[in-house]
Amino acid sequence: MKRIALLVLAGGLLTAASSLPPSPPSSDAGHYLSRFVDPSADPRQDFFDYAVGKWLKENPIPANERSWGIAHVVQEETYQRLVSISQDASAAGAARGTNMQKIGDFWYAAMDSVTSAREGITPLAEEFAKIEAIQDRKGLLDEIARLQYIGVGAMCGLSINQDEKNSDRYAVHLTQGGLGLPNRDYYFDTDDRSKTLRREYRVHLGRMFRLLGDDSTRAAAHAATVMSLETELANASRKLADLRDPIANYHAMSVEGVSKLTPSVRWRGFLEQGQIRGVDTVVVGQPEFFQQVEKSLRARSLADWKTYLRWQLIDTYASEAGGAFDDQNFHFFGTILNGTPQQRPRWKRMLDEEEGYLGDALGQLYVQKYFSPRTKARYEKLTDEIFAAFRERIRGLDWMSEATKARALKKLDAVTKKVGYPERWRDYSTYDVQRGSFLGNCVRGNAWRSDFYIKKLNKPVDRTEWEMTPQTYNAYYNPSNNEIVLPAAIFILPGIADSLVDDAVVYSYAGGTTIGHEITHGFDDEGRQFDERGNLKDWWTADDTKEFNRRAAGIVRQFDGYIATGDMHVNGSATQGENIADLGGILLGWDAFRKTDEYKSGQSVGGMTPGQRYFIGWALGWMNQLRPENIAVRVKTDVHAPSFLRVIGPVSNLPAFYDAYGVKPGDKMFRADSVRVRIW
Ligand SMILES: [Zn+2]
Repeated sequence: MKRIALLVLAGGLLTAASSLPPSPPSSDAGHYLSRFVDPSADPRQDFFDYAVGKWLKENPIPANERSWGIAHVVQEETYQRLVSISQDASAAGAARGTNMQKIGDFWYAAMDSVTSAREGITPLAEEFAKIEAIQDRKGLLDEIARLQYIGVGAMCGLSINQDEKNSDRYAVHLTQGGLGLPNRDYYFDTDDRSKTLRREYRVHLGRMFRLLGDDSTRAAAHAATVMSLETELANASRKLADLRDPIANYHAMSVEGVSKLTPSVRWRGFLEQGQIRGVDTVVVGQPEFFQQVEKSLRARSLADWKTYLRWQLIDTYASEAGGAFDDQNFHFFGTILNGTPQQRPRWKRMLDEEEGYLGDALGQLYVQKYFSPRTKARYEKLTDEIFAAFRERIRGLDWMSEATKARALKKLDAVTKKVGYPERWRDYSTYDVQRGSFLGNCVRGNAWRSDFYIKKLNKPVDRTEWEMTPQTYNAYYNPSNNEIVLPAAIFILPGIADSLVDDAVVYSYAGGTTIGHEITHGFDDEGRQFDERGNLKDWWTADDTKEFNRRAAGIVRQFDGYIATGDMHVNGSATQGENIADLGGILLGWDAFRKTDEYKSGQSVGGMTPGQRYFIGWALGWMNQLRPENIAVRVKTDVHAPSFLRVIGPVSNLPAFYDAYGVKPGDKMFRADSVRVRIW
């Protein structure tokens, strides 16, 4: 969901068995954390290297992963749980139509790689025939709409979510989209790597057309056509940082109004072809993009567009089509783009697929087995403590007026806290899952998902919904619902029983900072523009806005200054919301931790003071190492900074960190008081 501020982008996933050693018999927090700490490194020079360097050195990135760290170790535990749920379901012989049958049959078909390879793209044959049969522009647009319905984002983005200015209704959103490369920058950047990637992308396009049956001459010509059509769309697309401004990306208009922007598209008919009926207004994200769509529709031949649609269809389903399509798709996106030599094993990839299509059905079984009421209660209490800490912080801010503070507190008090799992689960009863064709299950799954969102239109907004499953190692803040959503799995600390985790780690790694991170998203550069009802509405005084922006500019400068990989700098503007949230999260966790008996005792464990344990716990949350190619992709596409900078960036602004480790002028971790960022 485009407007949801995520805590982490999980990125590439797992392979080998969990590489954490078993937990010690005692609840000795120092011992637990010492599995990660590299005592030969100096926390004052490179805190990331010190706090988690030992583990990272002992656990290099496996050949079939693009990155490796704490999220992967947690995911490994989750995979083991989900595979046993799936295998049990597959053997259960459950009644047709039940979730158990759907999970079991999905898993069976997914793991049947022989049938999948033999079948190839046969389940898509009808769709390719429809593309081939297009005779005119109306036929072209009808087919694009139908492809959107089965998950193919050709020509533009189309989604249904809450109206940013009226959170009580759902709206159809039309946005920039339709590209094969990760985003617009890939079509224009002039550095050597970008040039190589464009060359390789054309090779990839050509090979995919060959696999679709074109001879080599036609395949090469088709690759050139796709590249040039996508480049036109990319040229009218906004950059990552420019997509952060919710006002600039909101243009509500009548359906007829969009047709004025793009006279070649009768949008009412288009939406109806995509099964969307009874809609009078839509929200257009980027009007200039649709003006380009109009130009391309007029200037390009029908043959060009048909070529582009064939590509978009196979690109969407290549990894699920198996065989040579899957291999070639991995070769470009896995190896060339992200630097990963090998594919991950099929069973893990298929668990990801199952998660995508039946995630809530899995989640229902998952929480019954793996999320106790006791754990839920612990993290609900922690959530309340973090809220209390934020309330105090807001009250004490010396730069915010009383008027804005009152509104901020009103918004904070209105935040919905969703912890663990949803009250109600998605109903998959109309999703037809069969034991025969894996790709068939995927195509029907995408259509089912479209129906799921289309059915919401013209109905009251369901504010109990979750956009993540409980087994997801992630969390989010959704501004339209003014809610934080904390899935059960975000609280997992691998290799140690929940009951043995001490407070320093609970408040830093296992919840405190995460909860704080998500709450402060409601008040970051983007979230602060929404009010307590989730509507885009300015509630700040002009002076407070000015002061917030001045302080936020400090964090933009700080992160602009960091090198992500090679000579590539972090994008401070695009990542500012996440960096503000990280800074807020670590502060709120700290405030709450200081109230615990463990902190007050001042007792060292394993040679570490409570403060030191807290900050190492923070680093543990972002323990991750990435292939340089993967970092390069993320710098261009991800609103989060690379993990090592998410550790050292925020702590270098905190006096409490300086106290914990005796950081002084001249140390690499030292930032002069005048450039330390203070927002909350
Ligand atoms: Zn976030």
